[in-house]
Amino acid sequence: MKGEGDMERVAIYPGSFDPITYGHIDIIERGLQIFDKVIVAIASNMEKKSLFTTEERLRMIKTLFKDTPNVVVDSFKGLLVNYVSGTNAKVLLRGLRATSDFEYEFHMASMNRSLDPHLDTLFMMTSKDYFFVSSRTIKEVASLGGAVEGLVPELVARRLKEKFNLPVPKKRHMNWDD
Ligand code: ADP
Repeated sequence: MKGEGDMERVAIYPGSFDPITYGHIDIIERGLQIFDKVIVAIASNMEKKSLFTTEERLRMIKTLFKDTPNVVVDSFKGLLVNYVSGTNAKVLLRGLRATSDFEYEFHMASMNRSLDPHLDTLFMMTSKDYFFVSSRTIKEVASLGGAVEGLVPELVARRLKEKFNLPVPKKRHMNWDD
């Protein structure tokens, strides 16, 4: 338990979030049960290869967590360990889906620890409802007009339709910040 005078427990949840899914959101919400604050850190190194710009991803996630002050949304370029050293976080939060995630995550966590021995990575197993959800498959399905509602927030589903020039259901106009 955190006693008076204890440091705030901060975790950084890094990733591409291109776009954010309910799988990510589930990890953030569960992270908040353990940490006082979760910093969602969008890696903007691969900007050219991403569907959404860093700014678009940032605005979507900020909108989704606008009523959750202990979720902070940020972006970074370059080495994650350098970004982390500018914060008061000591833990990286990552989600683990099937065994396929394991090898990559194991290498990344080991590399990050080698770069910064004080930095640990905490893994959370995906929830049964989202083990098959990845940003990549969401983009694939959405680009072909498939329904992704229930796997991503409504705001994200609409942004995907806009990106792929698919008809957006008639409703009130949504700003990026809605
Ligand atoms: P990457 O860092 O490979 O670009 P993402 O940005 O998609 O990955 O995801 C960031 C983190 O969230 C990773 O640890 C990834 O394993 C995890 N994650 C992604 N989708 C899910 C999901 N459906 N359930 C649990 N964790 C997930």
